Amino acid sequence: MKQKLIAGNWKMNGSLAANAALLGGIQHGLAQAFNGRKAQVAVCVPAAYLSQVQQITQGSGIELGSQDVSAQEQGAYTGEISCAMLKDFGVRYAIVGHSERRQYHAETDALVAAKAQRALAAGITPIVCVGETLAEREAGKTEEVVKRQLAAVIHANGHCISEIVVAYEPVWAIGTGKTATPEQAQAVHAVLRAQLKAATEHSDRVQILYGGSMNAANAAELLAQADIDGGLIGGAALKSADFLTIIAAAAR
Ligand code: PEP
Repeated sequence: MKQKLIAGNWKMNGSLAANAALLGGIQHGLAQAFNGRKAQVAVCVPAAYLSQVQQITQGSGIELGSQDVSAQEQGAYTGEISCAMLKDFGVRYAIVGHSERRQYHAETDALVAAKAQRALAAGITPIVCVGETLAEREAGKTEEVVKRQLAAVIHANGHCISEIVVAYEPVWAIGTGKTATPEQAQAVHAVLRAQLKAATEHSDRVQILYGGSMNAANAAELLAQADIDGGLIGGAALKSADFLTIIAAAAR
């Protein structure tokens, strides 16, 4: 059975001092507990801190992730960060298509697919975010929206699709304290799993994470669902005790 993945998305939070304290707490907790039970753990940090976090986490088993990556290889793209640059810092994961990027930076399905493609080609695992807004859910369009978003990535990536991680993040649950119920989340995860199954014979390999106000109190129930293979954690990833509780719920 595949291990679950718990990935923290720090968003635009942190400082040299705060990062060191947070990672110290997480590493201390990971060394103490779990009795051989295991989950994969990653932190997706602001680009400015990749070097710091790489140094602190080296050899700890905590994987490093970025919160975005350019769809371009290199060149005159001011402000962008390439896969090769991320590789220089040992980055294993890159979040692509987070709803905050789709909303505030007008990222399209096609751009998200191109970013995923660029990451895969470089040996970085894209964590592809999909999810509906509240208006889309209320209009009964949840399935249509997440399938459209994932289809673009499947179309661009062909058989490599089994190498991605998917994160189902209902937009109305991100940073709002409103979590999808385990049943609501599982229903969408099952839809995504079926879509992956139609695209690759290795669909079972793909980890489908839930994200959207997952926290220390609700993680166990969400992670117990058949098609929930981990979590993408925002706010609760900034408190070591909460992050550790979520990791413990995922470990087996
Ligand atoms: C996220 O940013 O991906 C996220 C899930 O945030 P939060 O856990 O704070 O809702």
